Amino acid sequence: MNTKPVLWIIIPCYNEQEVLPVTAPMFLDKLQFLVGSGRVDAGSRILFVNDGSKDRTWEIICGLADKDSRFLGISQSRNRGHQNALVAGMMEAADRCDITITIDCDGQDDLNAMDEMVDRYLDGCEIVYGVRSDRDTDTWFKRTTAQGYYKVLGSLGAEVVYNHADYRLVSSRVLKEFANFQEVNLYLRGMFPLVGFKSTSVYYSRKERMAGESHYPLTKMIALAFDGITSLSIKPIHLITGIGIFVALISFLGVLWSLIAHILGNTVAGWASMTCIICFLGGIQLLSLGVIGEYVGKTYMEAKHRPRFIISDRTWDKKEEEDNSSAPGEIKE
Ligand code: UDP
Ligand code: MG
Repeated sequence: MNTKPVLWIIIPCYNEQEVLPVTAPMFLDKLQFLVGSGRVDAGSRILFVNDGSKDRTWEIICGLADKDSRFLGISQSRNRGHQNALVAGMMEAADRCDITITIDCDGQDDLNAMDEMVDRYLDGCEIVYGVRSDRDTDTWFKRTTAQGYYKVLGSLGAEVVYNHADYRLVSSRVLKEFANFQEVNLYLRGMFPLVGFKSTSVYYSRKERMAGESHYPLTKMIALAFDGITSLSIKPIHLITGIGIFVALISFLGVLWSLIAHILGNTVAGWASMTCIICFLGGIQLLSLGVIGEYVGKTYMEAKHRPRFIISDRTWDKKEEEDNSSAPGEIKE
């Protein structure tokens, strides 16, 4: 009986025509090394998830799959975002392999960390988080905001692995449990710790992008950060309740004070104090409404229960039509 695990490396790609031809051979080399060193089964594969790219990314993926059967590709029907692309890939792989490793396609994450990841799996861990040991390649701004963000998340009670993004090994056993997390607002790095099972981290230093440009400008980063907070914690709503109680108490004292002042006949035209109070309360109310609105909006999106991904093409479907070969890695019972 074959006991070596079948590994699928899952790589989301969005408009990556510049970097893919550079990094694809690197991924294959790594896979070959992992197979050669006896860590994983020779039936292991590299699965590219085309996230509705508008450039030649899908053509490049199809070309790779044609040349080497270890390369596979699926294509989302349109751009749905990094997190959705990852879920699409993981769900595709879950029944066909024993372990998956998700990694960006731009070569920023050190491929060599995979050796240790697989070793940790062989030691019995079901989830292995790739953690950045430094943030030297980040700008000062990104480094400081990222660190502040992890602190805020932690204080809100969300369990996230510090400096871990989406470079991680997950066993198919974990993926099958993860499939029951049906939410559409995805923040994977915060969801996997919730699945549980034995987990550990391996450390690596992150490099610069090899080619092309980042798809995470400040606005998208802020959106992901908000998604993280609101999908992992409802503490902000509790916080609002706290602020509400505090402000209500102060207002009550204010009413008492103004009544006493009125009775004593000390009332003077207090324009400035009135304006301040109105602005202060107006501000707090709007902010609170906004935060609550965020959660209402999320609930609305969840209630719709739309599919998290729609796959329009698979490289092996094409191949099957051409030469009747079967799908990669037969679905395991
Ligand atoms: N990506 C994706 N869909 C998107 C945006 C990005 O699949 O809508 C992929 C992208 O191709 C890359 C990974 O997500 O493999 C991370 O993106 P990027 O390198 O631009 O982010 P950064 O490393 O700058 O945070
Ligand atoms: Mg990147």
